[in-house]
This record gives sequence, structure tokens and C-alpha cells, in this order.
Amino acid sequence: MDIQTPLLNRLFDAGLLIDTGVDGLYGRSGAFEDVIARFETLIETFGGADNAEAIRFPPGMNRTHFEGSGYMKSFPQLAGTVHSFCGCDRDHMNLLKCMAEGEDWTKDQEATDIVLTPAACYPLYPTIAKRGALPEGGGLFDLQSYCFRHEPSKDPARMQMFRMREYVRMGTPAEVRAFRQQWMERGKQLIETVQLPVEIDIANDPFFGRAGKMLANNQRDQNLKFELLIPVTSTAKPTACLSFNYHQDHFGATWGLKTTDGEVAHTACVGFGLERIALALFAHHGLDTADWPEPVRKALWG
Ligand code: ATP
Ligand code: ZN
Ligand code: MG
Repeated sequence: MDIQTPLLNRLFDAGLLIDTGVDGLYGRSGAFEDVIARFETLIETFGGADNAEAIRFPPGMNRTHFEGSGYMKSFPQLAGTVHSFCGCDRDHMNLLKCMAEGEDWTKDQEATDIVLTPAACYPLYPTIAKRGALPEGGGLFDLQSYCFRHEPSKDPARMQMFRMREYVRMGTPAEVRAFRQQWMERGKQLIETVQLPVEIDIANDPFFGRAGKMLANNQRDQNLKFELLIPVTSTAKPTACLSFNYHQDHFGATWGLKTTDGEVAHTACVGFGLERIALALFAHHGLDTADWPEPVRKALWG
């Protein structure tokens, strides 16, 4: 295999990813999906004993919940809204005329009640808050969702639509900190099990604009986010494949999420970037899973 050819082209040539004509929007082959399914099973063997409550949300969320989350304050550049045609017959005629003439037909589309999910855990907080105070010992949830981020790129590890598997903990500060610490250790072991090089580092999100600088500094100074990095397309700039986030009382205060004792709940989440992990496996072990090292095959296929 020509190592000089960019990874994205090699993935297209091997049929693992399928070009749609839009950067960051790809089809996936059965072989690619199988790796993700097997890796998710491996994640479950590490987290299975914790008895997390599984919930699956679709890749779109309630727009009111999205608005309440504060996402537009931090990352307006990444968000994607769902708009639809809501007009009458005459508007429809105009729409078709506009399209036929190659003009912008999207400007009259109207916002729906749905926004594309930016991170798998966003729909969870208002949902759990609605149940009332958390039980004794807090809450633990298992999520997986396609997510959207408007960040088109030729880097196959930076997609616009990708899946995040998450565990989310809600409870006292001590409970959620212990959860995050445990997953930082487990995450490292998990990735070592499939023989990938790992490094854990403190992380910084690209908060938007001037006000975002302060948010970024605060995130760094308070150790709110760590990432597990694996070289995928570059050894100098390894790719974040897992992230470990401590939100303090941000979501608890936003949604009125309470512990049994009536305190504002703290929350933390661990997020696995499923496509990034699959890409790391293909980049390190080869594009044909039959050629992968025996211990890696054993860990994934048993
Ligand atoms: P990056 O710094 O590379 O942009 P991030 O800090 O924005 O990543 P998170 O918001 O922590 O990522 O998302 C959780 C996980 O989802 C990441 O650890 C990563 O594995 C995955 N992820 C994030 N953005 C993308 C993307 N554009 N394409 C594929 N996977 C992604
Ligand atoms: Zn999360
Ligand atoms: Mg990002």
C-alpha cells in the first residue's frame, strides 16, 4: 500500500468509506460497520457491569432543548438546524421555478422543531431532569447517536456526520469525578487491547469568538476535559478518539437536575468517537481486517 496516498483516498479505493461528493459525509461498507459493531461490544465488556440505563435518541433533538443547552453560545459554527418547506401551492411553484433556474431555493425554508444532535448526551439532560430528582447513588446512562458538526474536511477523521458512544454519569461531584477517573483508565486499557498507541492529554474546545477565549481558559485551568489521542493521519498531531468531560453543575443548573439530597447534580461523560476508532484500527493494522494481528482479531471477533 502506498503510504503517501492520503488515508481518505485509500479508504475510498478499498470501499471502506463511500464518497458522496461532500467532504465529511460518507457511506460506510459492511466491513467498516462490522468493526464499529465489534468495538462497541468490546466497550460493553469494559462498562457492562456498571448497569447503565441504555437509551437511544435519534440524530435530531428537540430544538427547545438545544436552545436551552447553550450550544449556540459556544459553537454556533458547528450547529446544524433542520428546515422544511411549509408553504402553499403558490410557494411551491416559486420553489420549483427557483430550483429550475439554479437560484437559492433554500432561503424560504422554515425552521422545524428539530436540530441535529451535536453530541450524543445533549438530549439526555432535559429528559432525565423531567423524571424528578435522581435516585440515591445518582444516574448512569449508555447512549449512542449519530452527531452532526459543520466542519467539512478532507481529514477522514473529521466528519460532518459521525457516531458517538457515550456513558454519562449524574450525581454528586465526588461520584461523577470518580466515574471520569475510572473511564480514563478503562479507555486506555481498551485501546491497548486492540494494540493502538495511546496518549491522554488535557484538551481545549474551539469555543467561538472573543468570549470563547475565556471559556477555553477556564476549561483548561479547571481540568474539565481530557482526550485520549491516537495517531491516525499524523503522528505529530494525533487524533482525539475518546473524550472525558466534567461539566460541573452546568447541565444540572441549566435543566434543574437534582441529587436525592436536593443539591444541583454534577455531570460527566465519556465519549467514544466510533468512526475515529475504526479509522485508527484501519490506519495501524491495514485496510483488510483479515490481516490484523491475531490478538486484535481475538479481542474484536472472539
Ligand atoms: P476535535 O478536537 O478533534 O474537534 P472534539 O474535542 O470536538 O474533537 P468532542 O466534542 O469531545 O470532540 O466529541 C467526542 C468524541 O467524538 C471525540 O473524542 C471524537 O472521537 C469524536 N468526534 C468529534 N468530532 C468529530 C468529527 N468531526 N468526526 C468524527 N469524530 C468526531
Ligand atoms: Zn457528552
Ligand atoms: Mg471539535
